[in-house]
Amino acid sequence: MAKPKVAFYWCASCGGCEEAIIDLNEKILEVADLINIVFWPCAMDFKYADVRKMADQEIDACFINGAIRTDEQLEMAKLLRKKSKMVISFGACSHLGGIPGLANFYDKHSIFDVSYKAACPSIENPENIVPETKVKVPEGELTLPAFHNTVKSLDQVVTVDYYIPGCSPAPYLTLEAIHKILANDLPAKGSVLAPDKSLCDVCSRNDTKPEKLMLDEINRISLVDADPEKCFLAQGIICMGPVTRAGCRKEGDGRCITVNMPCRGCYGAPNNVKDVGGKMVSALASILGVENEEDYDEEKITKLMDQIVDPAGTFYRFSLPVSMLHRTRSEKQI
Ligand code: SF4
Ligand code: SF4
Repeated sequence: MAKPKVAFYWCASCGGCEEAIIDLNEKILEVADLINIVFWPCAMDFKYADVRKMADQEIDACFINGAIRTDEQLEMAKLLRKKSKMVISFGACSHLGGIPGLANFYDKHSIFDVSYKAACPSIENPENIVPETKVKVPEGELTLPAFHNTVKSLDQVVTVDYYIPGCSPAPYLTLEAIHKILANDLPAKGSVLAPDKSLCDVCSRNDTKPEKLMLDEINRISLVDADPEKCFLAQGIICMGPVTRAGCRKEGDGRCITVNMPCRGCYGAPNNVKDVGGKMVSALASILGVENEEDYDEEKITKLMDQIVDPAGTFYRFSLPVSMLHRTRSEKQI
């Protein structure tokens, strides 16, 4: 029987998701034996023309990591969708917009100002030249893909069949997904291939969270000596565990929790949470310093809220493009 044809592609991301495939270690040989890799430009010498030549739906499963930020990424996402029976959104940037999605707090022009113009102290560019999509040079015309104003998740531009979450996805989840694809044993389309529980549900520190938690101060992990046994929230340190999907480790605590760092939310929300930031703000609102309605003290609450440095970046660190906020207001959304 012919081996299933599999493709991997990289859009706007740091490359960690490509590393996550290499992190299969010796299991990668097992995987390579079971599938026929027909496109993986990061690791092998494939060209876009190779994909264009393929018949529609010729690829059995295509793993796409990274958000969509440029014309090139948009074109490749659409091309690979057309050529693939199944598209798997791989990793937080593809799934949620990820860290590149934080750029949605700005627009293309302000990003170019910081990257290429006077706003960047290490750049000398008196003519304020910025990258153009077409430039004439003596040898002919040079082209660059257009840079979009808004970062999008993969499913905001093409239909996605399954999601493997995480920054980066845990190798065991990738391996499980490949075996499920091979065995044709997949859940309903649109499913996230990770447990539908919150990180708190699997966290060994959960028992140290008092039933009635009341915070009098918010602490930053970099400025305190966090107790390695105690729930971060009980120590006044923001941990996104209550609104984040479990699964970053096969068993036990989340990856960050095991090294005494609070969760930042890279696995996105479990199915019952629609907007991680909104839900986290609501969770915090119920534990910030006021036990009874009569004790409500606006000044105290404001002081506590002010201790959360960069709330939007904290609550939507990985998910701004798919959140209710989506981006700051802009004339041009593309
Ligand atoms: S808030 Fe964080 S530390 Fe506390 S139980 Fe949840 S995941 Fe664990
Ligand atoms: S603990 Fe949270 S931020 Fe860390 S890897 Fe797991 S889901 Fe991602």
